[in-house]
Amino acid sequence: MKICETCNQNKAFILRPKTRKAICRACFFAVFEEEIHFTIVTNKLFVPGDKVAIGASGGKDSTVLAHVLDYLNKKYNYGLELFLLSIDEGITGYRDDSLETVKKNQQTYNLPLKILSYKDLYGWTMDQIVKEIGLTNNCTFCGVFRRQALDRGAVLLGVNKIVTGHNADDIAETVLMNVLRGDYFRLGKSVDIMTGNDGDTIPRCKPFKYTYEKEIVMYAYHKKLDYFSTECKYSPNAYRGYVRELIKDLELIRPSSVIDIIHSGEQIRLKKETKVPQKLKCESCGFIASNKLCKACVLLEGLNKNKKKIVLEIEEEKKN
Ligand code: SF4
Repeated sequence: MKICETCNQNKAFILRPKTRKAICRACFFAVFEEEIHFTIVTNKLFVPGDKVAIGASGGKDSTVLAHVLDYLNKKYNYGLELFLLSIDEGITGYRDDSLETVKKNQQTYNLPLKILSYKDLYGWTMDQIVKEIGLTNNCTFCGVFRRQALDRGAVLLGVNKIVTGHNADDIAETVLMNVLRGDYFRLGKSVDIMTGNDGDTIPRCKPFKYTYEKEIVMYAYHKKLDYFSTECKYSPNAYRGYVRELIKDLELIRPSSVIDIIHSGEQIRLKKETKVPQKLKCESCGFIASNKLCKACVLLEGLNKNKKKIVLEIEEEKKN
């Protein structure tokens, strides 16, 4: 057994995915937490007094985020008031079970918890939506509704920031997806560690921007955190799945691929003359929109009117 290359004392227990160095348990926990602290501090994600909602799904990312943020907040006296905010998409056998994990974490960390459901907000569960439109565009509906649901939940909680558990692998996938789709507007935003800090919406931060998914899994497992690991039964989102596999193959040849893609994305800037979507208020629900109606209201209207029309609209949008 190798000796830890960080403390040079204890026996190493893993080869750290990020650095490929042998590391002991205590040093792994310490560097994992300190790197997140470094990301938070260098990017000025918080100021004392911030009220922060942690988007909590019960999965590994948000569970580790709640644990580490609670720990760092106390250790470094960030002065944050933390909340858990969960969205119930209405997916039987998946979200109902994972929300039980969030409730256990609420007890562990003693944080206030707010759960908002698609059924209450939009009148539809994802189970009903999938029944109506099938499995082709379900993640489009789910993603648009979740994004707005988090904003609505944040308003109800009275917080001024939202943090999500998006990790380095998620961000690298999004960068590559946007490159492959030519979606330059989203490409610019996908690497931002904080979005929505222009005063129009509640800012969202990604403290795990540089944290590898494999290390989050290791941390959760070895810290014995309570998390839910079943995949959504309506997954996979085919396009992201292909990109994920592509990055995994690239990592076999070049282990730094994830961080390299993020760094490349950070260097890509929109030209000044590039037209970006306007920021408007949705005439129906009042939340942020780029047209008269926000995407959630358009999807909802179509869903309520007739399913065929909306599927055609999405297909058309994908072609453009
Ligand atoms: Fe929603 Fe798709 Fe994720 Fe399932 S896989 S939770 S349907 S976005």
